[in-house]
Amino acid sequence: FWANVQMGPADPIIGVNEAFKKDPAEKKYLLGVGAYRDDNGKPYVLSCVRKAEQKLLSENVDKEYLPITGLESFNNAAVKFAYGENSKPLAENRIAVAQSLSGTGSLRVGAAFLQRFLPKGTKVYVPKPTWGNHITIFKDAGMEVCEYRYFDPRTNGLDIAGLLEDLKAAPDGSVILLHGCAHNPTGVDPSKEQWNEILNLSIKKNFLPFLDVAYQGFASGNPVEDAYSLRLFAESGLQMMLAQSFAKNLGLYGERTGAISVICSSPEEKARVLSQLKIVIRSMYSSPPLNGARIADKVMNDPELLSLWYSELKAMSGRIIDMRKSLRDHLENDFNSKLKWNHITDQIGMFCFTGLKPEQVDRIRSEYHIYMTRNGRISVAGLNTKNVKYVAEAFHAVTK
Ligand code: PMP
Repeated sequence: FWANVQMGPADPIIGVNEAFKKDPAEKKYLLGVGAYRDDNGKPYVLSCVRKAEQKLLSENVDKEYLPITGLESFNNAAVKFAYGENSKPLAENRIAVAQSLSGTGSLRVGAAFLQRFLPKGTKVYVPKPTWGNHITIFKDAGMEVCEYRYFDPRTNGLDIAGLLEDLKAAPDGSVILLHGCAHNPTGVDPSKEQWNEILNLSIKKNFLPFLDVAYQGFASGNPVEDAYSLRLFAESGLQMMLAQSFAKNLGLYGERTGAISVICSSPEEKARVLSQLKIVIRSMYSSPPLNGARIADKVMNDPELLSLWYSELKAMSGRIIDMRKSLRDHLENDFNSKLKWNHITDQIGMFCFTGLKPEQVDRIRSEYHIYMTRNGRISVAGLNTKNVKYVAEAFHAVTK
């Protein structure tokens, strides 16, 4: 049966992890993984999550199946967190929401829904570059994927002219995938004015914006600030979709906790959309996992845990922001690099697109035992007070 099954290419990020594990060097650093690390380079479980777990344990909860659309109180809290308490579409009961398997599962369910209900041939536009899984998720769902210009390697910033030009040239009614905040892999986000321009174009072109928000609160430390684009689009009256993940901001990575939501034009339309989301989910995985949603639900619905979460979000994002400053400072002031490194602190979120070329990344790996993807992306969470100077030294050595 499997004679014709060819070896698939390894995921580039997993490949970096494997190479790191095999390296016998004592002093070696992994800057590839998209997961938060504390200042000792260790994984971090949020205290609000630990407290929620203790409460759940003491409540002796059962393990019954969740409904197809998941835990209702989690869904309500998740959309409130995303769209805001005073959200118009929320107050008007126009948001269909289903708990799903973190950000990836939410995107996949959303993609399957779009494939079924949008006119055949509708294209999905994703930024160039984007999180690699976006392309595969939409293609696997049978959608055609196109790219719009996003990153400008000359400035290490946003190519807003290219972005607008490509979206203007896209067919009316296309799906536009947008990273709501902390673009992965570049760390480059549109400014508020630029978001307004993208929104106006979306209205003019009758686009369906599909926002992927995997870092709300994790980028700036302020969940409202990080929801700027999302709320701008949601309040505009457009129909749109949102894939939400609690992997990074609540540190629930392996618990697979997230939600897909669809803004509709009326409660009646919402009911129809929700009925079809259920049909998509039923045949994919029947119902979502219980534990992560229970934890997130406890945190978001308990004022004490909620404020603890917000302070932990500030601490995590603050450490990342400090590491950006420190990396830039070492490069510019300790090693007197002649290059510009302002993009390190201009970019936000977990990732930094360093501007290093693949050959420089290879050199850093072989000479300094520092591991990152060949596109020059590092996870800033992998930096800490003990290794940041060494990393700066390596960056300088291969770029001078
Ligand atoms: N979207 C983006 C842009 C991401 O960076 C990630 C995490 N790497 C995800 C979605 C989804 O991650 P998860 O499925 O773990 O929530």
